[in-house]
Amino acid sequence: MNAGYATEQLESLLAAASADTEKGKVASYIPELAKEDPRQLGVSVCMPDGSILSAGDADTPFTLQSISKIFTLILALCQNGQQYVFERVGKEPTGDPFNSIIKLETIKPHKPLNPMINAGAIAVAGMIQGKSVEDRLNGLLDMLRKMTGNPDIRINEAVYGSEKKTAARNRALAWFLKDSGVLDGDVEETLDLYFRHCAIEVTTKEVAKLGMVLAADGIDVVTGERIFPEEVARICKTFMVTCGMYNASGEFAIDVGIPAKSGVAGGIMATVPKRMGIGVFGPALDEKGNSVAGVKLLELLAKEWKLGIF
Ligand code: GLU
Repeated sequence: MNAGYATEQLESLLAAASADTEKGKVASYIPELAKEDPRQLGVSVCMPDGSILSAGDADTPFTLQSISKIFTLILALCQNGQQYVFERVGKEPTGDPFNSIIKLETIKPHKPLNPMINAGAIAVAGMIQGKSVEDRLNGLLDMLRKMTGNPDIRINEAVYGSEKKTAARNRALAWFLKDSGVLDGDVEETLDLYFRHCAIEVTTKEVAKLGMVLAADGIDVVTGERIFPEEVARICKTFMVTCGMYNASGEFAIDVGIPAKSGVAGGIMATVPKRMGIGVFGPALDEKGNSVAGVKLLELLAKEWKLGIF
């Protein structure tokens, strides 16, 4: 692919999608996120040689939010193995909103249906090993710093504090999991780890790079180092298809057809097996929590570059 021509295409597709920013609203249940300008839109693409093409607001920092759930799952699988992880969290899409509580009680055994909903991700955070919250978080940050090649990846403290203060629903989920025996250990510590990993700050360039490691089945294409096993990459990409775009994952699979994970700060990480990682940022969200213009942009890009995997 010619980099100059591909960047021009990215710019014109971004211009076409940017009108859709007006169709959404920034997340406001985490007060700090409500400060974002909803008109922003940025995209980066990381190629198998590690080169990155970008258009729009590609240098604007935003927090990973639910995109981080992929990386805690990677760590939990590497540290504990599949059997341990999937005894405590399921593999099925829910069809419910990301923060829903209802099926935790109605489905037996009482375990979250998958690791991409909040309940499942809190259960996964409980599996991350380390001597302290700090230590557990550092394991994750180290992996992300290695994968992005950016040693300065850190937490946005304002977003972290803002979520921690207002997280009644996530606290309810966590304590329900404790009561059901899914979560052992200190609940508030695990919640703290969860709020912090959601507040890890990145740009679309870094998200594209993260997506490329998954596209390369766990290998960092820049250094050639294996970061996690191919089997773990396979599991994560499958979850991205079945549950990555909240309860719009089916629609996204049909309209776009790329494994992807979104977050309520407006980020989307997409991964095209063997071919590229894509990072998108557009904080105006639809009612299910996905970036409206971000989804549109991925749809246009998938058509133009024939990226759909099905
Ligand atoms: N920190 C957010 C929450 O727990 C993440 C949600 C998301 O991005 O879907 O509500």
